[in-house]
Amino acid sequence: MDRITAGFDQLTRFWLETAPARGVVARLDESMVSMLQHHDYPVAVSLLLRQLVGAAALLASNLKQPAQVVLQAQGDGAVPLLCVEATDRLTFRAYANVREDANIAADADLSSLVAPDGNGRFVLTIAPEEGQMYQGIVALHAGSVSSLLADYLTNSQQTQTRLWLRQDGDALEAMLLERLPDSRDEASDSAWEAVVAQAETAFALPFMPFPYSEWLPFVFTGHDVRVHAAQALSFSCSCTVERVLNALRLVGREELQPLIAEQGRVESRCEFCGKRYEVSATQLADLFDHVDASHPPGSGTVH
Ligand SMILES: [Zn+2]
Repeated sequence: MDRITAGFDQLTRFWLETAPARGVVARLDESMVSMLQHHDYPVAVSLLLRQLVGAAALLASNLKQPAQVVLQAQGDGAVPLLCVEATDRLTFRAYANVREDANIAADADLSSLVAPDGNGRFVLTIAPEEGQMYQGIVALHAGSVSSLLADYLTNSQQTQTRLWLRQDGDALEAMLLERLPDSRDEASDSAWEAVVAQAETAFALPFMPFPYSEWLPFVFTGHDVRVHAAQALSFSCSCTVERVLNALRLVGREELQPLIAEQGRVESRCEFCGKRYEVSATQLADLFDHVDASHPPGSGTVH
């Protein structure tokens, strides 16, 4: 049995033939270690990044075209930004801005870290490679990542949605259950509540790597559970030297000039994966000469 079939670093979509519900469950193990190994985040920050990655992966599995899901928690606390991206190919990356000298308790929750004054916001963006971007913004309230997201999804999609997360060391498991449109009569209400209770019970237990094709029928005992093929989840950063040069071009020659004069080069570090890029004075000169040639002064904005 390979790692994916065995339940590691994988995502499985499923539906219940005998209840108005469908869902997706994901488990992240070594991919999470790969993501965090380049960083030295406080325990609470690593924990929240893992949870947000788990949630973003579940949402990304619903993308119908090449696109990425971006989840951001923003505020003015000890951690002003947590940013997580997941793509339709089920790759993900994440980073956090942590204020220097911040004293962060291991059990601090999202809102107390990001916005203790209550002025934080949670931003969900769906960015397709082509076409219109969608963005939803809600106030960051106290509570768990799973309750924040479930409330957001229930309100924005008008579909009852529940989300569970559980951790075991570096590993994380996440499950999303969504109520399918149906008659919404009493029998349907109680069927939905019963499967939510079954998921609740399963997520209250410690978890073990197990193929979801075997675990899900066990969780939803009494139901006919249909399971799609498992898909691999992996950490992957899309940074390239071209993107670094683009970013430097936006910073502008004047801003960079003092650095070049002093060090003869500019160093840039990818916030997501920690990779270091070194751009020489010659490369920068080429970059700005090209910009100046194609956009003479007064010709408009440089893209
Ligand atoms: Zn990178």
